[in-house]
Amino acid sequence: MEWEELNITRRNFIKLMGAAPASLAINVEKNGRKYAKLVDTTKCIGCRRCMSACKRWNKLPPYDVPETLVRDMDGTTYTVVNFKRSSRDAEIGKFIPWSCQHCIEPACAGVCPVTAITKNPVTGAVVVNEDKCIGCRYCFQACPYKVPRFDFHKRVTRKCHLCYDRIPKLKPACVAGCPVEALDYGYRDLILRKARQKAQLIKGYVLGEQDAGGTDVITILPVLPEEMGLIVAPKKVVNEDIDKIRISFSGFSAATVLAGLLYLYSRFGKGE
Ligand code: SF4
Ligand code: SF4
Ligand code: SF4
Repeated sequence: MEWEELNITRRNFIKLMGAAPASLAINVEKNGRKYAKLVDTTKCIGCRRCMSACKRWNKLPPYDVPETLVRDMDGTTYTVVNFKRSSRDAEIGKFIPWSCQHCIEPACAGVCPVTAITKNPVTGAVVVNEDKCIGCRYCFQACPYKVPRFDFHKRVTRKCHLCYDRIPKLKPACVAGCPVEALDYGYRDLILRKARQKAQLIKGYVLGEQDAGGTDVITILPVLPEEMGLIVAPKKVVNEDIDKIRISFSGFSAATVLAGLLYLYSRFGKGE
């Protein structure tokens, strides 16, 4: 039974976890194993229930257009499902659920001038702290997949946070909402093994094993990412230019001035 069916609200869950025995949390954190999310495009039927589950859990406003017409992420849409065909063989077509890939060494976090983005190396979640974010959008520039989106209403950058507020005790909302188990969340080594086995069977590709230096979202594709029209991330993501700006003194000063201007804009900018 999906946990949403149990009518557990986000608030109740957080309360519930607060009351959970400490031993539960300790076992999860200290067994030395890391977690990852699996996306199996060979199972996805394109129903987009993951998208609505994400909206519900995160209390995000509804789409402006029917769900089936939503093509891209935005400040209030953290995941999308698009149908893509192989450029080599038109008979190969798959629905591809897509969101932040939760890189093991996230470039977005590396360049953030106010360290608003953090990575949890155990659960895998890369999370933007909206209270710290100044909306400079360096993270968007640095991201190999161009994921972070600016929320023009809140004036902060937003993206999928891997449901950091419910994992690993419960699976992410999108995973729990998928009716055909095309999505999963669990120990990374097991997820990776499952993905490799499936990819071997279909002569496909395991996206995230090495792409962008390795990610905590592992996607089973029927063919190479470029053939499915996906962005091809380098195996190692280096953002030297942006990193230099952030860490050098002059760059730091420039970033600070820029951060100040963006902060003022975010507070007193047009329309407010
Ligand atoms: S995919 Fe982009 S936004 Fe997501 S963790 Fe990696 S660098 Fe950051
Ligand atoms: S992991 Fe959570 S925040 Fe990310 S797409 Fe799934 S439901 Fe949305
Ligand atoms: S809920 Fe599952 S089957 Fe439906 S679109 Fe999302 S991943 Fe695909």
